[in-house]
Amino acid sequence: MKHDLSERIRLSERIKEITLALVEQRSVVETVDEIAVSDKVYEIMSQMDYYKKHPEKLYFVPVEKDRWGRKIVVAILNGEKTKSKKTVAFIGHTDTVGTSDYGLLSEYATKPYELVEKLKELPLNQEVLDDIESGKYLFGRGIFDMKSGVAIVMAMMEEISKDIEDFEGNIVFAAVCDEEGSSKGMLTFVPELIRLKRKFGYDYQAMLDPDYIAPAYPEDTNVYQYVGTVGKLMPTFLAVGKESHVGESFSGLDPNKILSEITGRINLNPRYSDVVDGEVTLPPVTLKQRDLKPEYSVQIANKAVVYYNYATHCSTPDEVIAKMVKVGAQSFHTVINRLNERYEIFCKMSGRKFEPLPWKERTLSYKELYALVREEVGPELDEKVRAYAERISHHQKVNVRRQTMKVVEYVHSLWSDKEPVLIVYLTPPYYPHIYVEGSRPKDKALIDALDYAVSTTECDYNLVQKKFLPCISDLSYAAAPREEGAIQGLKDNMPGFGIVYDLPLDEMAELDLPVADIGSYGKDAHQFTERVETVYSFEVLPGIIYKTMKKLLEG
Ligand SMILES: [Zn+2]
Repeated sequence: MKHDLSERIRLSERIKEITLALVEQRSVVETVDEIAVSDKVYEIMSQMDYYKKHPEKLYFVPVEKDRWGRKIVVAILNGEKTKSKKTVAFIGHTDTVGTSDYGLLSEYATKPYELVEKLKELPLNQEVLDDIESGKYLFGRGIFDMKSGVAIVMAMMEEISKDIEDFEGNIVFAAVCDEEGSSKGMLTFVPELIRLKRKFGYDYQAMLDPDYIAPAYPEDTNVYQYVGTVGKLMPTFLAVGKESHVGESFSGLDPNKILSEITGRINLNPRYSDVVDGEVTLPPVTLKQRDLKPEYSVQIANKAVVYYNYATHCSTPDEVIAKMVKVGAQSFHTVINRLNERYEIFCKMSGRKFEPLPWKERTLSYKELYALVREEVGPELDEKVRAYAERISHHQKVNVRRQTMKVVEYVHSLWSDKEPVLIVYLTPPYYPHIYVEGSRPKDKALIDALDYAVSTTECDYNLVQKKFLPCISDLSYAAAPREEGAIQGLKDNMPGFGIVYDLPLDEMAELDLPVADIGSYGKDAHQFTERVETVYSFEVLPGIIYKTMKKLLEG
């Protein structure tokens, strides 16, 4: 891939052409359209002379036990200049979020040129109007997140394949499905990469993902490249209180009250933000909080559950569990004290004799609960829980988050102790963070390669490198957490792990790759004004990706 102007323009035209072809094919996550877009990628790539000559290097891998029968497309390029085993892995997701946000324009969401005309008829904010006016933007569902990124990799591979005798090293690319859902495409690609490594001896250098890059805040004019990615956990509290009739409310213990106290302490509290290299995670935020009483009745609920989105740059599952057990215990304690104070006042007001309420603070991690129940039930608990998790995992109508909670409830139900207790566990999914610190050779090589690519790129954009892609993505699965105790902490505290929810942790650990998101620039992903800025994305970015990759393969 040469870099004179005419070549560059030809490549950018080709990227645009492929982008439009991919956008035209609807591919909303968790629909059969995801299969059609995989077929589209395959069809475009199979027209390359290289794949006509080497059809075995372009193939599908089905997602195991998938309801929709989805598949990923794998394309391999083997440079012929030397016999190098160095390999760069690329991913790009071909699914998109739904199109209901387009309202009446939904049918135009996949037709960028018609869509922009329709958008002009709507009352839009000035920034969107200016962007339309500039002529630099293309609108459409998935055009920014991230079909333009997929198109860049495809066009780049096409270009390289024409001079494959002059190319050193290897590329393994997967167009993956389900990124907006449960990352099943990426989780299918990880074991495939290991299989290829065993078969061909590929020495993977890094995983690159040209997923969308948005401004970090309004008026932000930087264009970012991220080396590394944020992680995500969902710490969960199941509070078991004491039900009572509302007519005797002080004789019950309302689990909602305990959870409210916890939420008050955790929700959007920067004390729980991870800070690494000056980059700060967003603090935890509530994703669900409810009691488990199915009906309306004049009874205080017996159980309630809350879980939080918890972003990580450095905290591991075991550390998060430990922090949550601590704040859970403090909250439980506060609630008991406050209830006693209020009860005492109430007794005084109504002339009753005050006796302290019977509640005792008890907060257990799932691992601790399990150990207590196992002491009572015996080692056969393991088989019981396994069988229960197996059964519940087949319930299509119960989602994986509820299935996990059901396992906790099941273990608790086998315990003879029915007194109030707060149980802390992890709800799926889990996305490990990847911190590319720079002391390990492959980490440093990736940082240096991107530095080189950026510093040798002349453009009118303010290019800025950061350590953590702020949104969770498939990149999380390119490595397993290396911190001691992290994986065990996950397995111990995510009920039903391996049955209800699973990750290819051994393969992730074996891959152990540094990652980077060097992707299309644009605005408003997941909104009907989603748009890609084509000057950077189609003309500048391909060069940055190409140079980064080339440096990794040759450097
Ligand atoms: Zn994306």
